[in-house]
Amino acid sequence: MVSNVEIGQSAIELEDKYGAHNYHPLPVVLAKGEGVHLWDVEGKHYYDFLSAYSAVNQGHCHPRIISTLIEQAKTLTLTSRAFYNNKLGACEKFMAQLFGYDKVLMMNSGAEANETALKLTRKWGYTKKGIPTNQAIIVAVERNFHGRTLGIISASTDPDSTNNFGPFMPGYQVIPYNDTAALEEALKNPNVAGFWVEPIQGEAGVFVPDAGYLSKARELCTKYNVLLLMDEIQTGLGRTGKLLAGDHEDIKGDILILGKALSGGTMPVSAILANDDVMLCIKPGEHGSTFGGNPLAAVIAVESLKVLLDEHLIENSEKMGQIFRDRMTALQSRTEHITLVRGKGLLNAVIIKPTDDGRTAWDVCMSLKNNGLLAKPTHGHIIRFAPPLIINEAQMNECCGIIEDVISNF
Ligand code: PLP
Repeated sequence: MVSNVEIGQSAIELEDKYGAHNYHPLPVVLAKGEGVHLWDVEGKHYYDFLSAYSAVNQGHCHPRIISTLIEQAKTLTLTSRAFYNNKLGACEKFMAQLFGYDKVLMMNSGAEANETALKLTRKWGYTKKGIPTNQAIIVAVERNFHGRTLGIISASTDPDSTNNFGPFMPGYQVIPYNDTAALEEALKNPNVAGFWVEPIQGEAGVFVPDAGYLSKARELCTKYNVLLLMDEIQTGLGRTGKLLAGDHEDIKGDILILGKALSGGTMPVSAILANDDVMLCIKPGEHGSTFGGNPLAAVIAVESLKVLLDEHLIENSEKMGQIFRDRMTALQSRTEHITLVRGKGLLNAVIIKPTDDGRTAWDVCMSLKNNGLLAKPTHGHIIRFAPPLIINEAQMNECCGIIEDVISNF
């Protein structure tokens, strides 16, 4: 008989031998998920504090989303956009009305949605703003993360994303994040078509800009006739305690970019939203995707959004996030191992001070795993804590207890 421990070991060995080494996972082999809970192949239970990088905001295998998926999967999954399907239009209407835009363009991964936004911005720049051919510039910010395609990494300042992947796509100017003076200077260039920004930088380690940064960015984009591209793939859909992180400052991008939790973690579904004057710059045949806007994705997106609203997950995110930050800030005052706690809603980070003998945030995450809580370090010393938004107060308190014990004994 093969034991579960051996099954787990063999799963890791198989990935190691036959899979590309493009990730460095924590050594845990997951086999089942439900709500905020995960179980490994040995049946050990964990609380999920990563939520698949915020794709599982509604919790693992949400019954409503899964049943929608199963029903539609039995009926029609893919037609391509060569024909109409009977689900896409209703999804587009629901999303357009919910987020307050004229139109929606559905894609699959977050990277594809960003690429779509970049193409649309350039097209708008040439056809509406009058930028001379091939001169359009998109302003991005330092430490950005928008995905892994060549067009996207061409604006990256992270050597892991760029080293040995050149030559890069031209047409970007990269300025410091959270710096409205630098932004205004950049936007004065009449060839700038768009300003591309995450309202909170998630992958970089949950960098929250100063209050007023986004509203100033909105004001400057309007002043200089530049599109504001809000990448809310990680921050959107309740993650930061509002439907969109832009709502914290009551601002709207000209292009809203969504992904991840748009499917509750069941399949890749992404989208961009814009008003007609922008969205209609792209004409038939100029952009698309075989899978984008498929009927399965369409019904899943609607159900995933309805779950967020019906179950008041956005309000819960705000409440539970406050408990988390209060307890972690209190912990920070009792231990030298934490240098900073930051975040909004349930997108939070705790910055770990490495020990003199070289232990880092990775070791904290290993110890959290051994104690039944899964989180992942980013950029060496930062741990992002982002549980599904359905986490309740008792679970949150239990999890804070686990984190406090682990870090206190680090
Ligand atoms: N944009 C942001 C803000 C993200 O956080 C991510 C993924 O972490 C992406 C884009 C890329 O999404 P995907 O991995 O689905 O391509």
